[in-house]
Amino acid sequence: MINIPKGTKDVSPIDSYKWQYVENVINEVAKTFSLKEIRTPTFEHTDLFLRGVGNTTDIVNKEMYTFLDKGNRSITLRPEITAGVGRSYIEGGLASSLMPLKMYYVGSCFRYEKPQAGRLREFHQFGIEIYGSKSPTCDAEVITVADNFFKKLGVSNLQVKINSIGCPICRKEYHLALKEFFKPNLENMCKTCGERFETNPLRILDCKDEKCIAINKNAPSILDHLCTECHDHFEEVKSYLTASKLDFVIDPRIVRGLDYYTKTVFEFVSMNIGAQGTVCGGGRYDGLVEELGGKATPAVGFGLGIERLLMLLESCNVDIPKGDDCEIYFATMGETAKHKAFGYATALRSQGRIVEIDHSDRSFKSQFKYANKINAKYVVSIGDNELESMVFKIKNMQDSSEKDIPMAEFEKLCFEGLLRLE
Ligand code: ATP
Ligand code: MG
Repeated sequence: MINIPKGTKDVSPIDSYKWQYVENVINEVAKTFSLKEIRTPTFEHTDLFLRGVGNTTDIVNKEMYTFLDKGNRSITLRPEITAGVGRSYIEGGLASSLMPLKMYYVGSCFRYEKPQAGRLREFHQFGIEIYGSKSPTCDAEVITVADNFFKKLGVSNLQVKINSIGCPICRKEYHLALKEFFKPNLENMCKTCGERFETNPLRILDCKDEKCIAINKNAPSILDHLCTECHDHFEEVKSYLTASKLDFVIDPRIVRGLDYYTKTVFEFVSMNIGAQGTVCGGGRYDGLVEELGGKATPAVGFGLGIERLLMLLESCNVDIPKGDDCEIYFATMGETAKHKAFGYATALRSQGRIVEIDHSDRSFKSQFKYANKINAKYVVSIGDNELESMVFKIKNMQDSSEKDIPMAEFEKLCFEGLLRLE
């Protein structure tokens, strides 16, 4: 037997209703915010992620699935979707659309990580991207999309953490302050943070190593180093969140895993699903489009992990609707009955009714058992007796009541789309 690759998961036919439910809610929420779906390829040129995600990130340094294709091109399975959306925005000429351009996506991402609860090598993200507006209302709107989505699903106990990591101007000064603080602590920190100290000291704040977390607690706060524009922007974002009655906390240690963020960053964190508690992360990335070779365009968005969300739904005991059961099951005996039932089933299904027939030549008794197991609401029996008397029996499986219906009448109602069994 060939096993599933490490860090990947099947969605079984028993569980797929959960994904479909979540996807339906995503589409509903997107509609109320006028977000339009964008779909981009699962793989892109490696350079896109080197530039769009940044070569000081764990994603680019350690986690990418990169290979040469048969044409000797370096290709990477997308570790996230924002860079692909940025590429598509530039390449597809979307800059000439009506602004702001509000988009959302749902798709698989690939990262070579150590698989554990909430951390897979193939996982799925729902994300949104709003292009073309610098306004703090956009940052706040993006956060309310995620909040609205979680509330619609019945998720509670999430903490919304926000921060501002400023712009390249204020960050320059902050980097110096960070370096001054970390320098005497470096020997007590992990090896990677030693490298981060040289390449991008902000990354140190994102380290998961316990020693580094302890030292990080006393690091200078970016919020004390914001320039006036970034400071005012952050104040306004907070005021719009307050206007939405959205509870949030300010956490100056949130820096996000990707290099392209500017100003607002935020996370939705749960205490209920273990160490991988960040379900959704996002922020503003005004530098991305220019970095990818387009005209400077402000942008803000988030990425939300669907596997972690499903863990969260389970931990909150959210009852996910299972979808509709079979309405009519045709229990049949003999060739003529099977052919008649097959014709009725085809007609009813084309009218959108949920209908099942026997595919296993079971006895009447076991066909009823089967109908019961699939929660069929009604069973219509057709055997030799029914064909001879030209009257069918309809059993209501909920209250076990039975009624007869003449075959000609049943047939007429069935083919004319008028069959009512209630
Ligand atoms: P983490 O700090 O947990 O590694 P991240 O900062 O790398 O997360 P992002 O790149 O912001 O995560 O991705 C957005 C969301 O995608 C995360 O909040 C999480 O819900 C989900 N996610 C990220 N990596 C994985 C993974 N390997 N497996 C499952 N979900 C993931
Ligand atoms: Mg990560």
